[in-house]
Amino acid sequence: MSAVILAEFSDGKVSKTTAELATLAARTGDVTAVVLGNSQMAAQILAGPIKKVIAVDNADVLAYGVAAAVDALAAVIAQESPKVLLIASSAFGKELAGRLAVRTNSGLITDAVDVAADATATQLVFGGSTTVHSKVSHGISIITVRPNSVDPDLTPATPEVSTLTSPTSATSQLAKITSTQAPVKGGRPELTEAQIVVSGGRGTNGDFTPVETFADLLGGAVGASRAATDAGWYPHSMQVGQTGKTVSPQLYVACGISGAIQHRAGMQTSKVIVAINKDPEAPIFEVADFGVVGDLFAVLPQASEGIKARKS
Ligand SMILES: Cc1cc2nc3c(=O)[nH]c(=O)nc-3n(C[C@H](O)[C@H](O)[C@H](O)COP(=O)(O)OP(=O)(O)OC[C@H]3O[C@@H](n4cnc5c(N)ncnc54)[C@H](O)[C@@H]3O)c2cc1C
Repeated sequence: MSAVILAEFSDGKVSKTTAELATLAARTGDVTAVVLGNSQMAAQILAGPIKKVIAVDNADVLAYGVAAAVDALAAVIAQESPKVLLIASSAFGKELAGRLAVRTNSGLITDAVDVAADATATQLVFGGSTTVHSKVSHGISIITVRPNSVDPDLTPATPEVSTLTSPTSATSQLAKITSTQAPVKGGRPELTEAQIVVSGGRGTNGDFTPVETFADLLGGAVGASRAATDAGWYPHSMQVGQTGKTVSPQLYVACGISGAIQHRAGMQTSKVIVAINKDPEAPIFEVADFGVVGDLFAVLPQASEGIKARKS
């Protein structure tokens, strides 16, 4: 079998998700990575089990968005005839995958957390309480994969790079992107890419200062529970969980978060989980490697002081 993945870029740099997709795709066959961009971007693909990179240098992808991206990927599919196509489970990725499934008359599975050698996908549903295994039975197995679901194989890659020109159809040009605004970013790492994530919940009572101070001292990202984002205390883009982002950092610190199943669905694969909660019965302690029963407004400042003292 041959597999195609769509390479992911963040701020012009190839993201870890690309190697994650390649790792899963390599179980099913030889991997070709598609870069919707120029050959300089393609040249960044230096890790992961990737045999070939195809750069589709098409400025229309910026102008016409997902519709032009569908045309570009459809051209690659026509050339490569893959059996499997893996795309990251972002909002863009899922819309692209859905449109491609219609275009190629293929089955689609979204939000997979694993893909087996025979392209059987694993999904966690009902907040992670139920595992579903399913397989596409018609056309190409188009699967979107949640970031951070697998340890990426980062062995150096020396793929053969080629370019493909693909015209954007007149239909895809009907809706044009007239302006875009980059999200305002602080100095913190991207939530889904961060090695350390410190999250705050309803227990912060809206004051994320100790959570942010602690995260900054550790060079980590700040996340939040849905209770905190629904209350307007933190942006929805920082929500961790079933309806938010999936994170799998080396260290996850949950502060004032009870550990509802929907929150756990987005962080339970973290390597080390630390929970700070004043309720010793809070369910978050069931998944925590280390727990502190206490008030986060007392525990976090002390922990921050300890880290400052070690750094000085
Ligand atoms: C379909 C669906 C999807 C959902 N998706 C998500 C999702 O993606 N992400 C998500 O997070 N939730 C999600 N939820 C909501 C989820 O069920 C919980 O309601 C939510 O996670 C609770 O957030 P919390 O832990 O911050 O608040 P709470 O459950 O209210 O817990 C607050 C915790 O803080 C502790 N606390 C209070 N004060 C302090 C203090 N000073 N110091 C230390 N500890 C303190 C309390 O003991 C308590 O354990 C979803 C729910 C549904 C139905």
